[in-house]
Amino acid sequence: MILELKGIYKEYQQGKMTVPVLKDVNFSMEEGEYVAIMGPSGSGKTTLMNIIGCLDQATEGSFVLDGQDIRSCSENTMSDIRLNKIGFVFQSFHLLPRQSALANVEMPLNYAKVPRKERKERALKALGRVGLSDRVDFRPNQLSGGQMQRVAIARAIVNNPKLLLADEPTGALDSRSGAQVMELFQKLNDEGVTVLMITHDPEIAAHAKRVVLIRDGVLTEKGVNP
Ligand code: ADP
Ligand code: MG
Repeated sequence: MILELKGIYKEYQQGKMTVPVLKDVNFSMEEGEYVAIMGPSGSGKTTLMNIIGCLDQATEGSFVLDGQDIRSCSENTMSDIRLNKIGFVFQSFHLLPRQSALANVEMPLNYAKVPRKERKERALKALGRVGLSDRVDFRPNQLSGGQMQRVAIARAIVNNPKLLLADEPTGALDSRSGAQVMELFQKLNDEGVTVLMITHDPEIAAHAKRVVLIRDGVLTEKGVNP
């Protein structure tokens, strides 16, 4: 088991009001799985991803990631876990606009204090894996949306993370670029990367091997795709 959430509740404090967002969420993934969490806007998908990605803590419940109890972790430990075990892909790519594709992909390796030569080698390899060896010196504004997302995916995998988390990865893309991103996730999953993808789009969710539904902060298993 790579991750297990039990009895997770998340509330936000909005002035004097308490806003319940996640309600008794139970969810686990085996290593090597490819799962989609699908639900409408406002259902709690990003809130759940932020907890699984160690960007935020639950209000209540237990969360174990790769054998480690996250509820008892400090901010520093959570940031180490993010750096070493998790790759993030966002709807809006989150690339540094003035930096080349290569420099963007090297970013996490700077934080991990990887030596310069190795940084470059690994970033070039990751860009190769996403089919962008011919675009390494291009800046984001010289790339298409689909290419920008592929750079972001290269950045997400450059640290060889155990878990790839993607929040609406095709939400800003046309359908052809979206299909390329889905092909890439399939390839990475075939290579052994555990993938958790969040989407409101049933066609995108259908690419995963297992789909989980979330509605008003309540999670239900939908079943395994054929
Ligand atoms: P989704 O990603 O499924 O669209 P979110 O997880 O972003 O949904 O949000 C779920 C609910 O939590 C929404 O009703 C939203 O208003 C609320 N919410 C999210 N973040 C905060 C916050 N920081 N403070 C208060 N409420 C929040
Ligand atoms: Mg969201």
